[in-house]
Amino acid sequence: MENSKTLSQLTSETLAGKELRDYKTAIKGNLLLPGDKDYEKSRKVWNGMIDRRPVMITKCHNKRDIQKALEFARNHELSVSVKGGGHHVAGTAVLDQGMMIDLSDMKDIRIDLESRSVIVQPGVTWAELDKETEKHHFAVPGGVVSSTGVAGLTLGGGMGWLRRKYGLSCDNLLSAEVISARGEILQVNEHSHSDLFWAIRGGGGGYGIVSSFHFKLCPLPPEVMVCMVFYPATETKKILEFYRELAPTLVEEASTFLIYGTLPDEPFIPKESHGEDYLLIAGMYAGDKKQGERVFQPLRKISKPIADLSGPIKYTVWQTNFDADYPKEKLNYYWKSLFLNELSDQSIEKFIELGKNRPSKLTTVDIWQLGGAIDKVRPSESAYPHRNSGYLLGIESNWEKHLSNDKNIAWTRLAVKNFLSLSEGHSYLNFEDEGPENLKAALGRHHLKLQEIKRQYDPDHILF
Ligand SMILES: Cc1cc2nc3c(=O)[nH]c(=O)nc-3n(C[C@H](O)[C@H](O)[C@H](O)COP(=O)(O)OP(=O)(O)OC[C@H]3O[C@@H](n4cnc5c(N)ncnc54)[C@H](O)[C@@H]3O)c2cc1C
Repeated sequence: MENSKTLSQLTSETLAGKELRDYKTAIKGNLLLPGDKDYEKSRKVWNGMIDRRPVMITKCHNKRDIQKALEFARNHELSVSVKGGGHHVAGTAVLDQGMMIDLSDMKDIRIDLESRSVIVQPGVTWAELDKETEKHHFAVPGGVVSSTGVAGLTLGGGMGWLRRKYGLSCDNLLSAEVISARGEILQVNEHSHSDLFWAIRGGGGGYGIVSSFHFKLCPLPPEVMVCMVFYPATETKKILEFYRELAPTLVEEASTFLIYGTLPDEPFIPKESHGEDYLLIAGMYAGDKKQGERVFQPLRKISKPIADLSGPIKYTVWQTNFDADYPKEKLNYYWKSLFLNELSDQSIEKFIELGKNRPSKLTTVDIWQLGGAIDKVRPSESAYPHRNSGYLLGIESNWEKHLSNDKNIAWTRLAVKNFLSLSEGHSYLNFEDEGPENLKAALGRHHLKLQEIKRQYDPDHILF
């Protein structure tokens, strides 16, 4: 919002006054101002590189608080950012100068076994939701790191280990309750505000504030078979050539990805391989364990592995398998992605080149296999535009804080640029940087329609 007031104007003109005290007493949650103990904690997001200072933070406890917060923001011409799990790599949950609406205290989860569905408030993380649904041998398809928020991940699409069997997180959304920028509470589904329902399934945030998500529950045994084989990176060409033949034949229960990175000094890796580059094939079979074991067998003997940690595991434990690689606030992060139709010889070559030239040992280059249930939804059915792409290339630049931000960011941007001619130039919203050009690349053919929907539900453009 162009006319947002500055911090100094607001503190002197408004925040010190009765209006602010009235606002504070009108909400059930907390109002946090610079200098308050919890302000610092709340303004922090997962990415250690993001350091933004909102004028004020409203920690909402219920939907009435959200309405009140939006009313206050409108009356004071404040832009608003929304924090669910705070994990978006671009730090979109927090903004300078405006109001942050922090929903992380809204944690209610209600499972209804009769309708096989669950209602989830917007502060819930995937770890919290998985724990509840697992008790009943169900899951909602989420992501692969358990600390991410259900809200942001679902709004941007949401791909994890159940993606090929049950689709994206947003494909499993039955309805939602959304509070429009003007404060109306809207019940949103296929029949009511269907345009908004379409937008929040893959179009990201900014169309309203979702105060609850209603998901379908998907059956899943508590224990699943996973594939987790580390090969030496020197074998990457051979492995990728094998993988591209096998991947299209894999059943939908199997979702896999490959990661090029550097081996940590961990006890599960033989000492002599610590610090060497690896290519990991990771996968999960969403079904019978024995069947899963058979399906993953060929991927475990392409070459001599450094370590093979494949085996049956509790789904909720597997969901935390990669958590330690992504510590909150401790590292700086900058990610980009590109959808690829195929793993051509040229893309394999470029992938290897990228892997070798990573400026930080913590950076990884990943290939996510797509297809299966993701492709069964027509691209026009929801805002998520990139159905039918075979693979997603993820470039996850992760580096220690004392290293150069500029160098790592520049490398990531160049890496994507070098891959552009091998793709149609589309990226994944959940792994994308801010800015109009990046947004266009992520929203693809749905960009203009989403702008139209934004104008309708947030005409004054207050939502960031
Ligand atoms: C370590 C890590 C692992 C990841 N793994 C995966 C993965 O496996 N699969 C995948 O698909 N993505 C993955 N992501 C990307 C992730 O999906 C996005 O970062 C997502 O935005 C995180 O959701 P959040 O609620 O934590 O984010 P936040 O940063 O809190 O929110 C992101 C944006 O979503 C919008 N938003 C959030 N809550 C609401 C709401 N209630 N109403 C309206 N708008 C809202 C806002 O615009 C906000 O700026 C990963 C990210 C990280 C950091």
